[in-house]
Amino acid sequence: MIPIADSLLAWYADNGRHELPWRQTQDSYALWLAEIMLQQTQVESVKPYYTRFLQALPSWEALARAPQDQVLALWSGLGYYARARNAQRAAQKVCADFAGQFPDTREAAETLPGVGRSTAAAVLASAYDQQEAILDANARRVLIRSQAIRSDPKSTRTLQQLWELAEALTPTAAHTYNQAIQDLGAMICTPRHPRCDACPLQRSCMAYAEGLSEQLPLSLRKRDTRERCVFFLQIEDGDGRVFLEKRPDSGIWGGLWCLPQFHPQGLSGQPVPCTAQQNTLADGVVLREQVRHFCAMQYGLVVEVQGLMAMQKHVFTHFQLHFRCIHIGLQEDLQAIKVADRVLSGRWFGPEAALAKGLPTPIRKILSRSS
Ligand code: SF4
Repeated sequence: MIPIADSLLAWYADNGRHELPWRQTQDSYALWLAEIMLQQTQVESVKPYYTRFLQALPSWEALARAPQDQVLALWSGLGYYARARNAQRAAQKVCADFAGQFPDTREAAETLPGVGRSTAAAVLASAYDQQEAILDANARRVLIRSQAIRSDPKSTRTLQQLWELAEALTPTAAHTYNQAIQDLGAMICTPRHPRCDACPLQRSCMAYAEGLSEQLPLSLRKRDTRERCVFFLQIEDGDGRVFLEKRPDSGIWGGLWCLPQFHPQGLSGQPVPCTAQQNTLADGVVLREQVRHFCAMQYGLVVEVQGLMAMQKHVFTHFQLHFRCIHIGLQEDLQAIKVADRVLSGRWFGPEAALAKGLPTPIRKILSRSS
């Protein structure tokens, strides 16, 4: 095992990101919120969301009591919305079971929804000054390279080895060390093209010594390149209001408001495969007829197709979503609107009200362009 703490701490003192807003506090709520937001998300993307969220919901109690719609609207655009739903459930548990304080043991902290071992450790080290080791993506990469670990980084065995290393290497000043290893991973020992020449660990780094800096961590699993296609229906009434449906709590975009989705069918009546959707679109007559039929059956609406947006792409971790928006007007009719309101978990929103809701990023882009 190659010790790294002294070099890391010395480097951090001069080069760390001490100005980050969540490093100006020891409040467990603010520290926990930052850790949740930073999961799978870059620091620069998190900053404005963190500030806005803390201003609107500044405490465990405020988050616990807030309407879910408000929480999701504040999270809207940050992605991975299960984090927002879990965050609110965690705040409710903190208030109900832990007297409004973040639990002071890792075991108890890990019972909170959305809080894994590394998140719990990061908060305990920062808020309560406990000697707890973290193993987020940045720390993992630094450990793998500095110790030249060549096994599959996602295997249970390697993870166990990494946790043991992390615990052995983390000094009493865990709070500062955790920040230092996170910063080194984000600023110097980056996923691609690590800046070894500027690295305080270069002299002892085994990956560097063996010329493996860019090869580690090993990437043994193929990237999932699945594709999905969907048409979003932007249905507008005569007053320019748009129809949005609230998605179920579980699954993708859970709890967010979304434009209705439509999957065209081929002549066989089967859903059209992703690659064929362009062709289906070329046959505008068939598409228009299908959309009219869909809206009548699904929503009781009499509609006409007014336009088609160009194909767009939204990249998720596990797949790519190709989507196209179909702009639709109501041929009539107040009666149809009442039917749609009564029958569905949907609502009509004016342009500003729609944009104030928690929306998936592609839907926000579509509606922003139209408003
Ligand atoms: S020397 Fe290079 S590979 Fe090793 S820890 Fe530093 S940046 Fe990472």
